[in-house]
Amino acid sequence: MSSARWKTRYDVLVIGNGLAGCSAALFAAQKGFSVGIVGTGSQLPLSSGVFDLLGKLPGAKTISEDPWKALGELVARFPEHPYTKAGVKATRDAFDAYAALLNEEGVACGMEAANRKVLTSVGTAKLTYLIPEVMEKGIAPMARREKTLIVGLKGLKGFEAKQVAESARRFWPELSAVEIAPEGLGRPGDLYPEALARELDLPVYRKKLAEAILPHLDGHKAVGLPSILGMEKSKETVAHLEELLGVPCFEIPGMPPTAAGVRLREAMDRAFSRYEVASFVGGRVKKIERNDSGYTAVSFLRGEDTEISGDRLILATGRFMGGGLVGDRLKISEPLLGLSVTQPRSREEWHSCDLYDPKGHKLNLAGIEVDEAMRPVNGNGEPVCENLFAVGSILAHQDWKREKCGAGISLATAMKAIMSLS
Ligand SMILES: Cc1cc2nc3c(=O)[nH]c(=O)nc-3n(C[C@H](O)[C@H](O)[C@H](O)COP(=O)(O)OP(=O)(O)OC[C@H]3O[C@@H](n4cnc5c(N)ncnc54)[C@H](O)[C@@H]3O)c2cc1C
Repeated sequence: MSSARWKTRYDVLVIGNGLAGCSAALFAAQKGFSVGIVGTGSQLPLSSGVFDLLGKLPGAKTISEDPWKALGELVARFPEHPYTKAGVKATRDAFDAYAALLNEEGVACGMEAANRKVLTSVGTAKLTYLIPEVMEKGIAPMARREKTLIVGLKGLKGFEAKQVAESARRFWPELSAVEIAPEGLGRPGDLYPEALARELDLPVYRKKLAEAILPHLDGHKAVGLPSILGMEKSKETVAHLEELLGVPCFEIPGMPPTAAGVRLREAMDRAFSRYEVASFVGGRVKKIERNDSGYTAVSFLRGEDTEISGDRLILATGRFMGGGLVGDRLKISEPLLGLSVTQPRSREEWHSCDLYDPKGHKLNLAGIEVDEAMRPVNGNGEPVCENLFAVGSILAHQDWKREKCGAGISLATAMKAIMSLS
C-alpha cells in the first residue's frame, strides 16, 4: 500500500459516495490519478442490485427493449440530456469498466445487448440491463413460465412470498409461494436480510435452508428467494443450494433493505482498497473553498473538522434525498458550491396537476447544467472552472426514475468526467 494513501491532497477529490461518486473515484484511480472520496454513509445499500441503462425515452409511454438503440435515439433528439453530453462511447465504456470492477470484487454480473426482465419483490417484471449472476438465474424460468416456487421466511422484513406470486401471476401463472421458518437460521425476533446473508455464507446454514425448502419442492423447476443468498460468498451460496435442491435457485431484487445493496457497498469498499482510493466516510462536507491549486473541502471526520484537498473536484452529491440539491419555498439550490441550478421559473411549475402525468414533473428535471466534459457551466454555457466536474443524478434534464436510467446516468457521466481529466 502506498504511503501516500492517507495524505490529504489528491489529484482528484470526489464529494459524494453514491454510485456516481464511487464509480468516478474508481475510474480515476484506474487511470493512475491519486483519489480521495468524501461522503456521508452511502445510499448504495438501498440499491436493488440491478443496474438500469435506459428503459424509456424522455416523455415516452412505451418501454424500450433495446437500450442501445434507444440511447442512439435519445442522443439524436435530446441535446441537453446528460446521456447526450456523455455520449454513447463513454456509456459503453462505463458499463464495461464497472462490470469488470464488480467481477473483480466477486459480484459477477451479466449483461446482454438487450434489456432483460427480472421478477421483483413486489411481483413486477422489471426491465434492466446489468444483472448480478445470482439474480440472472430467474430470467429463463420466467421467460419459459416454468413451475417455480417463491420462498419467503417467516419474520423477514420487506418480502412476502405470497404477494410476489399473486402479483406476478398475470405474466407468470405457474408461480406458487411458501413461507418457511428454518430451524436454527436467523436470530430470534425479526429477521434482516444482511444478517441472514452472512449466515448463508456458511454451508451449515445453507443446509438448514435447503432442508426447510425440500418438502415443498414438489415438482417445481426453480426456486426464487429474497435477497439473502450470501454476502461475500453469494456465488457459492447459490451453487450449494442448487446442489442441495437439484433445481436452479435465484435471488429476487427488492426494496431496501436487501443483501444485494450491502454487497454492492462492500464491493466498492474492497475496490477502494485495491485501487488505493482514500475513502473518508461519515462526515458531511460543510464547505468547499476554491484556491489557486484546486479545492479544499472541510468535513467533520473522526471528531474534528478535517481539510481534504484536490487539484480537481468532482461533485457527485446526488439530488434531494442525499442533500446534493435543496429546495425552499422559492427555489432549488446547490448548497456546497452555490452552482446555478436549472429549474422551473416558479414553484407553481414544479409539479404537474396530474400526479401521474406521463410526462413527469418539471422538478425532476432540475439540476446542474454541464458541458460535454461534465463541467458545470454558467448562463452563457461556459465552464465555471476548468477543474470542476459534476456527475450523476445531480445533473439537469434527466428524470432517472421515469426513464429507468438511474445507474446508467451515474456511470456514464462519471466515465465522461474522468475521460475529460487532463
Ligand atoms: C431505493 C433506491 C433504489 C434504486 N434502484 C435502482 C435500480 O433498481 N436500478 C438503477 O439503475 N438505479 C437504481 N437506483 C438509483 C441509483 O442507485 C442511484 O441513486 C443513482 O444512480 C444516483 O446516484 P448518485 O451517486 O448520483 O446519487 P446518490 O445515490 O444520491 O449519492 C449521493 C451521495 O452524496 C452524499 N452527499 C450529499 N451531500 C453531501 C455532502 N455535503 N457531504 C458528503 N456527502 C454528501 C449523499 O448522502 C449520497 O450518499 C436506486 C436508488 C434508490 C435510492
